[in-house]
Amino acid sequence: MTGLTGQASPLIPPGSVIPPGATIGIMGGGQLGRMTALAAARLGYRCHIYCQDRDEPGAQVAAAVTVAGFDDRDALAGFAALVDVITLEWENIPVDTLRWLAAVKPVRPNAEVLAITQDRCAEKAFANRLGIGTAAWRGVATAEEVVRATGDLGLPAVIKSARFGYDGKGQALLVPGCDPVDGWSAIGGGAAIVESLVPFTCEISVIVARGQDGALASYVPVENRHADRVLATTTVPARLAASTAAAADHAARRLASALALVGVLAVEMFVTADGAVLINEMAPRPHNSGHWTIDAAATSQFEQLVRAVCGLPLGATDRLADAVMENLLGDTAGRWADVLADPDARLHLYGKQQPRPGRKMGHITRLIRCLPPAR
Ligand code: AMP
Repeated sequence: MTGLTGQASPLIPPGSVIPPGATIGIMGGGQLGRMTALAAARLGYRCHIYCQDRDEPGAQVAAAVTVAGFDDRDALAGFAALVDVITLEWENIPVDTLRWLAAVKPVRPNAEVLAITQDRCAEKAFANRLGIGTAAWRGVATAEEVVRATGDLGLPAVIKSARFGYDGKGQALLVPGCDPVDGWSAIGGGAAIVESLVPFTCEISVIVARGQDGALASYVPVENRHADRVLATTTVPARLAASTAAAADHAARRLASALALVGVLAVEMFVTADGAVLINEMAPRPHNSGHWTIDAAATSQFEQLVRAVCGLPLGATDRLADAVMENLLGDTAGRWADVLADPDARLHLYGKQQPRPGRKMGHITRLIRCLPPAR
């Protein structure tokens, strides 16, 4: 543990408000943790980040840091003793770790939400049980099941690792005429999901916060464009028919409520030519496609997370301006001086030292002004 923090407040009963001045524990130290810690500091909270490296983006701005493995029970116990509530910025924190922590301090969102969202099959089955559409899919774990699934669904299809995939990693396209078992081997075999390829017209996401009292607050659907399967830009708002936007919002709210989530849920969706909305993925944490909310919404997704996990009222989600968020990947972050020269651009850099290709180094939010500047 490094950094200074006081003792956690005396044990806080579930459902009560965790007031400013308290310490929020965050599992994970990436840029999402960094932006959460900055939002928390604005409201007078301290953040204690639990991560793997002292120089992670979140650790750089936190009041205290624990550097240890996610299965290190001694380190987890020490961390839990110093915080008042625990949240997360990475959805692949081991579920057992969260269950163990929950015996000591409130964990929001809880381990059961993570158990669903860490597994693409569990996630899609959960959505389908609520009557929410997804691509047609099959869970597979053997070569025979891969052959049967692609026979049922037809090709083209996508095969994805059931767990631990992100930014398009652990995925292979199965084109007509290919051997689907080769595609399965290429992603490392094991538990996987085969999905029909959706001929979408656009990709959108909805971010919804849910408080301890069940209150919901969602942001307008936004349109996401990917390059090499990594998010490149988010356009706010998505250009959608009102009925499609309403269906997307409704689906995200239903998912958050059905999960009994306390925190922030990002739901990625495909929109088809007939205006239908199909869920692709969900993440029970702030999301890259919600970064625009820092500069262009009444309350940011990060502040919303702080409010939800501390039992505060959720903030207004009004959009203050239209916007385009652009990720700064790899060495594009070197453009920072040009960005600063643009009066409508807001620059966010994550403090990462090594600009590897495709690595998220920062982002820009470009505000699209509806009114001329006041002066
Ligand atoms: P994911 O990791 O599931 O978010 O997938 C990364 C990207 O691959 C998505 O944002 C889509 O652009 C594309 N993709 C994933 N699944 C499908 C699908 N079933 N149909 C069409 N495109 C997909």
